[in-house]
Amino acid sequence: MLFESSSVMFVTDTLCRIGIGLEKDCARWCQTNKMLSAQADRVMALGEWEERWREDQTGWHRPHVNKMLESNIEKVLDGRKGVKFFFPLCGKALDMKWLADMGHSVVGVEIAEKAIKQFFEESNMTYSEETVPALPGAKVYKSSERNISLYQCDLYNFSSAIEGQFGGIWDRGSLVAINPRDRQKYAALITSLMDKDCRYLLDTLLYNPEVYKGPPFFVPDEQVQSLFGKSCDIELLQSLDALTDREKARGMDFFTEKVHLITLKTN
Ligand code: SAH
Repeated sequence: MLFESSSVMFVTDTLCRIGIGLEKDCARWCQTNKMLSAQADRVMALGEWEERWREDQTGWHRPHVNKMLESNIEKVLDGRKGVKFFFPLCGKALDMKWLADMGHSVVGVEIAEKAIKQFFEESNMTYSEETVPALPGAKVYKSSERNISLYQCDLYNFSSAIEGQFGGIWDRGSLVAINPRDRQKYAALITSLMDKDCRYLLDTLLYNPEVYKGPPFFVPDEQVQSLFGKSCDIELLQSLDALTDREKARGMDFFTEKVHLITLKTN
């Protein structure tokens, strides 16, 4: 957990006070910790997500391929063809079809059946529907035309036992959507799904979490580092001002979207 221990806080606080030149770092630490705590206890139940789909409250969905994915795809592919991609919390993202059209394969996980069915129907694809013996209660929907399999289940029930490991992961609206208290469990699952050569593109958001409770949640770079830094190398690829009227209406005066390329450390 990031900066959670009160003793760490006490020591840093003391160091700050005795003024050994750590003032700036310390102030940033304290500030980040304060911002994270603003959303730490917020919980969205799975049923609430399904209700959002039922009521068409899916303002996160974009009717086009994600620009951050498009502009960084060469870095993700790194010259590879036929990459097996994982989409955690996939919704009905058009990015899945875009990658499958290029000859890659896609596995997604999504709790809302409506999202999965809409994805196939809106992309004019026919699909099959099967139960998954290894995942009681889950279903897998497979495109008949493209290599796309979408699992309808809770992400935390999914594992490498189901579809093996992946060469690419596109995480948009996923780490920022899961409940903040589940981030370590999420990071452990995602890293377990990474093949040795996996290139994981992670999209995060920065804004003032004191003005909006989320989701999407605020995920600072320090958190990305604390979740993945031990086992992975992390490169910040892009950072852009994504403030629109939607965020302004939520009381935000800045809204920054960042993409990070995460790869497993080689040793
Ligand atoms: N990545 C998609 C959707 C983002 S919204 C996009 O960029 O458009 C987050 C999605 O995750 C919602 O569709 C919600 O139904 C789904 N979801 C939330 N928690 C989940 C969980 N624990 N397991 C599976 N799906 C989940």
